[in-house]
Amino acid sequence: MDHTTTTRTGAGTLIIGAGQAGLQLATSLRELGYTAPITVVGGEEHTPYQRPPLSKIFLSGLATAEDLLLRDAGFYIDNDIAIVSSEWIASVSLDDPADGRGEAVTRSGRVFPFEQVAFTVGGTPRRMQTPGTDLPGIHYLRTIDDASALRGELDVAAHVAVVGGGFVGLEIAASATAKGKQVTVLEAQDRLMARVVAPAMSRFYADAHTRRGTSIVLNAAVSGFRGEDGRVSGVELADGRIVAADVVVVGIGLIPHTELAAPLGIATERGIEVDSHGQTRIPGVVAAGDCAISEHPVHGTIRLESVPNAIAQAKAAASALLKREPGTLAVPWFWSDQADLKLQMAGLSMGYDEVVLRGEPDGEEFSALYYRERQLVSVESVNAPRDYMTVRRILEKGGNVPFGAAGDLSVPLKHHLAR
Ligand SMILES: Cc1cc2nc3c(=O)[nH]c(=O)nc-3n(C[C@H](O)[C@H](O)[C@H](O)COP(=O)(O)OP(=O)(O)OC[C@H]3O[C@@H](n4cnc5c(N)ncnc54)[C@H](O)[C@@H]3O)c2cc1C
Repeated sequence: MDHTTTTRTGAGTLIIGAGQAGLQLATSLRELGYTAPITVVGGEEHTPYQRPPLSKIFLSGLATAEDLLLRDAGFYIDNDIAIVSSEWIASVSLDDPADGRGEAVTRSGRVFPFEQVAFTVGGTPRRMQTPGTDLPGIHYLRTIDDASALRGELDVAAHVAVVGGGFVGLEIAASATAKGKQVTVLEAQDRLMARVVAPAMSRFYADAHTRRGTSIVLNAAVSGFRGEDGRVSGVELADGRIVAADVVVVGIGLIPHTELAAPLGIATERGIEVDSHGQTRIPGVVAAGDCAISEHPVHGTIRLESVPNAIAQAKAAASALLKREPGTLAVPWFWSDQADLKLQMAGLSMGYDEVVLRGEPDGEEFSALYYRERQLVSVESVNAPRDYMTVRRILEKGGNVPFGAAGDLSVPLKHHLAR
């Protein structure tokens, strides 16, 4: 079956990966006046859709697959963007190693010649290597098909174990708890979301999830999975504990897809290497989104997994392909909805040395402001969108909230905006 939405393919720009970044790159190229063919090839059978709802409203049954589509079919026709679905690119070769021209070949043998190429290939969930890991009932969540399968099994499950207490794991746990399941989160570290948030925020989330009925087990070393009647029945911990589970969801990180770019000498296993504008070291070859690792002027080498990053990097990569002036670098931002807790984050807290809490965690409405040498570097807000937006604007302007004033609720944060 041919899944191409328009017929005009051929040399021009080939975008490999039909996700958030791939669609944005195609859209931005057209917005910048690019008129040559654009072909977006994606391995999934769906046209680009939003992933964030997969662990939230889609899992809860409050959204359909249709609701998640980023654009309808008419958009691709109107903008002359050829979307080729259900085709996996197997190899990419360049005519000249210092130039973007070349061709890509799919697993099924289709050949796509290009004058320039973009990698927007995302990544694949890191898999457990413990005994029993292939038992039916153990899920990973990256695609809409993963989410549909998980949703179906959750409907009939009683006990759910979530391996990994990061954003996605906690969102899934909250959705499953809200469905009335007995949910246990198994986190290997001594606190939740440890890679990103401060200890005070981790503690808040552990308490908040516990209050809502989710069991949180920290320092949990998963040693294997138990099976019964051909499907998972529990998770074994190294200390001998068994956590009953008829559905297990593993959310322990993402491995970026680098296998196509590595032979071109532009990727390591950490990601496809780009500058801060999505440009690899080969002219005419760019990368954006979860697969790209870039040089950040402040934070060094960094790979971000977020929708805002995929969009910003794809816009920059489109400009790079057209040799336009790159725009200014946006302050990274992110959100995570866990039950009725809306976490919003702006800036990067890496290397912070002090944190100030503003508001009351007990009231489930507060912010954490992170400082490095008394300079504000990031904010995390829980159910405090106004504080979040104000601090994000301060960060975007390169401003500061004086350290001593950050926790003072009698001085509105917007007071610091104009400085
Ligand atoms: C459950 C879940 C919840 C999330 N929640 C949030 C959130 O709340 N906020 C937030 O900011 N971010 C969230 N994210 C992260 C966000 O969705 C990603 O950062 C974003 O989708 C990255 O976009 P991308 O285009 O880089 O990758 P993707 O959207 O993964 O797109 C890459 C596409 O490339 C395709 N592909 C890969 N290799 C090939 C190949 N060889 N040939 C053809 N096609 C290929 C893949 O099939 C995939 O469709 C969430 C992610 C998940 C999974």
